[in-house]
Amino acid sequence: MPDNPRGWEHQQVRARLLPDAYGTPCPRCGKPMLKGQDLDLGHTVDVADGATGPGDRIEHTSCNRSDGATAQQRRSQFNPSREW
Ligand SMILES: [Zn+2]
Repeated sequence: MPDNPRGWEHQQVRARLLPDAYGTPCPRCGKPMLKGQDLDLGHTVDVADGATGPGDRIEHTSCNRSDGATAQQRRSQFNPSREW
């Protein structure tokens, strides 16, 4: 058994997708993903929405880490905030 369940397969998929991801817009925030930025492997279907496996696309690490909160906010509050 691998030490880290996210380890080997995650790294393999990330390494395969990363070269093609540079210069393309992040699927979450729409800003380009550039070399030198923290990029991570994410899921087209959020983990909070039932995704399994190592992920299938590259996105900013910071965007990736907000997965759970984003998905839950989307469910409970679909309309964009107009508080400001
Ligand atoms: Zn992003």
